[in-house]
Amino acid sequence: MRYGGNTTCVEVRADGETIVLDAGSGIRSLGVALDKESRLEPIKLTLLITHAHWDHIQGLPFFGPAYDKKNEINVRGYDGVDMSFSEIMAEPMKAPFFPIAMRELSAKIDIKKLTEMEFMVGRVQVRARFVNHPGVCAGYRLFTSGGSIAFLPDHEPYRFLHSAKANNLSPEEAKKVAEKEQTGLVEFLHGSDILILDTQYTDAEYEIHMGWGHGSVSSAVSLALHAEVRRLLLFHHAPSHDDAMLDTIVNDARQLVRESGKKLRVDGAREGEELVLSK
Ligand SMILES: [Zn+2]
Ligand SMILES: [Zn+2]
Repeated sequence: MRYGGNTTCVEVRADGETIVLDAGSGIRSLGVALDKESRLEPIKLTLLITHAHWDHIQGLPFFGPAYDKKNEINVRGYDGVDMSFSEIMAEPMKAPFFPIAMRELSAKIDIKKLTEMEFMVGRVQVRARFVNHPGVCAGYRLFTSGGSIAFLPDHEPYRFLHSAKANNLSPEEAKKVAEKEQTGLVEFLHGSDILILDTQYTDAEYEIHMGWGHGSVSSAVSLALHAEVRRLLLFHHAPSHDDAMLDTIVNDARQLVRESGKKLRVDGAREGEELVLSK
């Protein structure tokens, strides 16, 4: 009720751009808000997709601005393991699952796969990195004139390796790969003003959900502290956690920060909340 129950969708406004991160069920209410705000002006936005799991793409058929021909929506993301990016995006609108096909949407929708790990959306520089999650899953970092925002909605600590190549590794080799990946990720996130990070599980829950692709409270805090980010937003709340449980998780995370003696602001991400960054 307080933290919200929709799946992943975050809007970023910066340097004249509207960038939407993932198209989970939260994109429906974003569409309502954008339509209300724009009145009769065209809406132009870029939608960046992290990966193909339902909770990150299922909202697109319910995104109002996609049904208005004056609007322009650029959709970007990476190919999956066995499916191209445009096939992934068309999937939720295929018969018999939905009555309207992707090509019938009236807005100017430009779906293109990303091949580079660094690109521009207008004046906003975007860097991407593949994270530890089943299948292909990207994390993004947006460099805006107000500061940088890192978005890793789905990521498991490298204690468990998801990459296919991990299957044939000895435990020592796997440890080396894990350390290298962790170092790379810390560099990627280093100094972010905001880190929106997968904290689906408590530490106890993580022990029985290892390999499910999601993070825990202590792994999220530890990654944020190592990367010296300014503010951590705990994200991708478990559907079984209610508000009271999420309050406990936020308090546990703050306690870990206090114990570290370092400085980091931690909050639980809340639906509809607006954060303003300024330099
Ligand atoms: Zn996922
Ligand atoms: Zn997810």
